[in-house]
Amino acid sequence: MSDHAKQQRDIVIVGLGAAGLYASKAALSQDRSCRVTFIEERDFDQFSPCALPFAIEGVIEDMDRLKHSLPELKNRLSKYLSHSAVSLDPEAKVLTVRNLQNGEDRPVPYDALVLATGAQPVMLPVPGAAQLAGKGIHVVSDIENAAALKNAATRTDVRAAVVVGAGAIGLETAHALVKLGLSVTVVEAEDRPLPRTIDPEMAGPVLDRMKDLGIKPVFGRPLSRVLGRECVEGVQVEDETIPCEILVMAVGRSPRSGLAVRAGAAEDRGFIVVNNRMETTLKDVYAVGDIARTFSRINHSPSVMQLATAAYKQGTVAGINAAGGNTSYPGVLNTFVTAVGPLYIGGTGYTLETALRSGYRAKAVNLSAETKSHYMPGGVPVTLRAVLEEGTGKILGAQALGTEGVAWRINIFAAALHGGMTVHDLAEAELAYYPAVSQMVDPISQLAEIAIKRLKLPPGKCEDVFTPLYNPDDKTKRST
Ligand SMILES: Cc1cc2nc3c(=O)[nH]c(=O)nc-3n(C[C@H](O)[C@H](O)[C@H](O)COP(=O)(O)OP(=O)(O)OC[C@H]3O[C@@H](n4cnc5c(N)ncnc54)[C@H](O)[C@@H]3O)c2cc1C
Repeated sequence: MSDHAKQQRDIVIVGLGAAGLYASKAALSQDRSCRVTFIEERDFDQFSPCALPFAIEGVIEDMDRLKHSLPELKNRLSKYLSHSAVSLDPEAKVLTVRNLQNGEDRPVPYDALVLATGAQPVMLPVPGAAQLAGKGIHVVSDIENAAALKNAATRTDVRAAVVVGAGAIGLETAHALVKLGLSVTVVEAEDRPLPRTIDPEMAGPVLDRMKDLGIKPVFGRPLSRVLGRECVEGVQVEDETIPCEILVMAVGRSPRSGLAVRAGAAEDRGFIVVNNRMETTLKDVYAVGDIARTFSRINHSPSVMQLATAAYKQGTVAGINAAGGNTSYPGVLNTFVTAVGPLYIGGTGYTLETALRSGYRAKAVNLSAETKSHYMPGGVPVTLRAVLEEGTGKILGAQALGTEGVAWRINIFAAALHGGMTVHDLAEAELAYYPAVSQMVDPISQLAEIAIKRLKLPPGKCEDVFTPLYNPDDKTKRST
């Protein structure tokens, strides 16, 4: 081995999802001489999980279009596909990797290790579920199981599906199955859709839209049993029986953190505990994406965010640090957008429920307004809700609903939250206007002004944040 090769830092990444991918990109650009090795169980590089509901529905016709490949770079980036990381010795800094085709194990030493092993769908342990696994019970997490669901849903003898779980994945899947012509029921133990991400006051329009689309809600009662002998024939929800040939479990995703936990990394309900550098409690071992427990951007309390946007940012931070840099993760806001047919639903930060549970004295202010001025054709209502701290007007969260303009408005709230802004700052912020896309006073500004009055906040102070580059009246500073 040459001196140069000995100095080359070896970064091993387990899992080639969004978090692993961005860790590799960041590491390779941080340290131009480091070597990145991927260990990935799949026999192909990557795919886009977020697009699976669109592929089930048929908007994306060919599931293989969701696959991507990552070119190897000579001496810098290599991949072991169809390989599983089975154990980790953090003292010796060696990972044991199994070739899934021939069962052979081999040691893989590392200087820095990034664990990006993702999460897997949770199966509710109700009677009948284990016996009927693979016989009509489906999950949506990868190309194979999404294709299996689509094949089952398009069989002529299949008429009805039950989706358990009214989170984003459950609702998106329910919509896809309705579009394929099935009669669809969504069963949810809580009393409303998206129970963990929006407040009850925002749930009504989501429920209405589900019903408009023909999705039957069975809310406030948990799934109690899966029925059937050879295959799924129905489900029981308390004393109600709902016949179906397809049952989709969409009740959450548990972290695939066994490797790190067995090696002694600190965990919290199965999520790997990391600091703001994305370091685990094991030396030179990082955890990112769906397996990591990070912290809230708002109050630094422990927090988990199982979304691709967090995976990308956390992977980037870990990659830079694993390659010798020093950067920090800013914390999660759980900013999201989903849709039920044409209705978009977005949120960021705390709901009123979570803000109150976190100990804030908080209030929510809602506004429904048209997206365009009254004289412009095509305006539609958008409903905004801001969650604010009483007394200070600090923004703690926001939610939005509507058939257009939801994502960009929620992203403005997300940026405001990221910057620790108050509702006064938001009222002062200059937002763009063009009759085809907004009102001159955008609903965000309208909401901010209403909130200042409603919460009886003291008048805001408009601070001068910029020093003028050139003051024509200040002759002493004029250059000659
Ligand atoms: C149906 C669906 C829709 C979604 N929609 C959205 C959306 O609209 N917006 C959004 O932001 N997020 C969405 N998400 C969430 C998002 O996809 C995940 O948060 C993101 O993919 C997590 O990335 P990750 O890299 O942590 O994990 P993953 O992408 O799951 O990658 C983990 C990888 O690790 C591999 N692996 C696991 N264990 C081992 C091992 N021991 N050895 C080797 N390899 C291993 C796995 O094979 C996998 O490839 C959606 C998810 C699903 C399932």
